[in-house]
Amino acid sequence: MEIFSNSDALTKRLNLLKTESKSIGFVPTMGALHSGHLALVKQANSLNDISVVSIFVNPTQFNNAEDLKKYPRNNHQDIELLKSINCDILYLPEVADIYPSGAKSESIELGGLELEMEGAFRPGHFDGVATVVSRFFSIVGPNSAYFGEKDFQQLLIIKYMAAARYPNIKIIGLAIERNEKGLALSSRNERLSEKEKDDALAIYQSLSWAMQNTRNYTPSQLEAMVALKIEESELELEYVEIVNEENLKPIENWDDTKKARIFMAAHISGVRLIDNVSLF
Ligand code: AMP
Repeated sequence: MEIFSNSDALTKRLNLLKTESKSIGFVPTMGALHSGHLALVKQANSLNDISVVSIFVNPTQFNNAEDLKKYPRNNHQDIELLKSINCDILYLPEVADIYPSGAKSESIELGGLELEMEGAFRPGHFDGVATVVSRFFSIVGPNSAYFGEKDFQQLLIIKYMAAARYPNIKIIGLAIERNEKGLALSSRNERLSEKEKDDALAIYQSLSWAMQNTRNYTPSQLEAMVALKIEESELELEYVEIVNEENLKPIENWDDTKKARIFMAAHISGVRLIDNVSLF
């Protein structure tokens, strides 16, 4: 595996590979890699000649300084994991390489998708995400880029941003990887004890319950029932929302939408977790 920390050197190397007609699959991550990330890299590897992974804890997408400070960092282990699945190129930049004139978000038009759910609770978060991914796309210039449905709203926003700025990059979404009990894999799970991870199962259990009971209730009744289940657990609910998965707008009647999805953010022991499932 080749490792780059400088964007110009990486672009130069990739341009050479492009002249040899190699296709490039790109997976941006913030590191502390788990099987969810590795599933994306394996897909990038199998569908392209060259896989490129970035590890960068992007300061502009954190609206909470403490969260940024506590975000797990594990480069040594990440490098070994990526080698073990034959990743071709790792990009491991410093903040100054990504933000030469200071870590600030660009103002990028995101169609209002950035204001819903995660955007409402983490102001500025998606401006930071769109800024860093746009920068990565211009450095790497991949044929395709792989994102997890774990961050479904992010996936939609990246599709929107890429359609406007990088129409030649294909954005591919992959299903959520869960542990054997159903907890969505997340780098933040590293901060939880085994007991807390079991308590956190209330998230997936309540979302699964919603999936099985969708048509027995109206969307707002279903949200209220799910919220109650979380309030009865060890978790602290931030939001639960049922929305049209194409535009993230709330649904009043099931008949108003073809594709409904339920989203949740909840806290346990100071760790913020998110999850979502498709209802239909
Ligand atoms: P992160 O390192 O959290 O920024 O995530 C990097 C990429 O991995 C994003 O596209 C995430 O959506 C994806 N990802 C994170 N966790 C999972 C998971 N449990 N299953 C599938 N993809 C995931």
